[in-house]
Amino acid sequence: SQANFMRVVVQSVPDESSGGVELLCVVRALLKKIKRRVMVGDKVIVGSVDWVDRRGMIENVFQRNSEMLDPPVANVDHLLVLFSLDQPKLETFTLTRFLVEAESTGVPLTLALNKTELVDKETLDSWKARFHDWGYQPVFCSVKSGQNLDLLAFQLRDQTTVVVGPSGVGKSSLINALRSNHRTCDTADGENWFEPVLGSRWLEEQRVAEVSTRSGRGKHTTRHVSLLPLTGGGYLADTPGFNQPSLLKVTKQSLAQTFPEIRKMLGENEPAKCSFNNCLHLGEPGCVVKGDWERYSFYFQLLDEIRIREEFQLRTF
Ligand code: GDP
Ligand code: ZN
Repeated sequence: SQANFMRVVVQSVPDESSGGVELLCVVRALLKKIKRRVMVGDKVIVGSVDWVDRRGMIENVFQRNSEMLDPPVANVDHLLVLFSLDQPKLETFTLTRFLVEAESTGVPLTLALNKTELVDKETLDSWKARFHDWGYQPVFCSVKSGQNLDLLAFQLRDQTTVVVGPSGVGKSSLINALRSNHRTCDTADGENWFEPVLGSRWLEEQRVAEVSTRSGRGKHTTRHVSLLPLTGGGYLADTPGFNQPSLLKVTKQSLAQTFPEIRKMLGENEPAKCSFNNCLHLGEPGCVVKGDWERYSFYFQLLDEIRIREEFQLRTF
């Protein structure tokens, strides 16, 4: 009885001429019964297709590589952490919280700094050097002047990306810019990098208009996310992701791995070893992580925050 239609874009079908067609689909009752939720970004199998009326039924959902809840998108494989160099001022601790949250998802991330046209070259260069020391190579861009938007689009090609960052940094502006530019993005050497969709039998969900009613309380929740197709293949969520990192998935032990500086000191290939297995790198004897880097105090501060939360959880449950 609940209206629950999803728009599904046909990625590819045996009859090649039908690729790209949008179908309005219902979800098979059995899927709902076994509580298999269909999310935006899911790859699904569609059956009972009526090509004239463009209707179909989602019969099954492929296993997800990842699942984001804010916004609800499946198969996200890229996070774009967006901050601005000015207006609002760049707060390095806030940025670190976002980076830690993004790193903790395990999804590859790109850091982008917007509003470059508001700062002078000296300021820009000093930020570049600092981020390099942190272990990041950010894209410096300006939605206003258009600087490096093509580079960003290039880095997002072939992936499903969600943009995250605090409010006011230009997330919505950037999403709009990439959406309107998406037909004209070329690589630096002028080569068009559009790639044809590979043939396969599954259909890909592109957009979902979902209305869910929470029974009992008469609460009506509508959450709408669309995935905008990018020229180079891949999609960009039209709804920005979290703008307040909760760090709920980060533990005292996992925090260190969200700092590239610490990862580097521990070594990725030939791991260096602290004397204690559960070393928190706070100057314990035999610790291989030194304290001579800019964000060490942030690491310290976040560790404390997580420790307090974990102790509180222990007492509560
Ligand atoms: P969001 O809250 O992150 O989605 O930010 P918005 O996209 O709403 O942008 C916040 C403000 O920043 C708006 O007034 C935009 O016009 C402005 N803005 C976005 N990009 C730029 C930029 O590159 N340079 C400047 N100067 N302003 C920008
Ligand atoms: Zn250590």
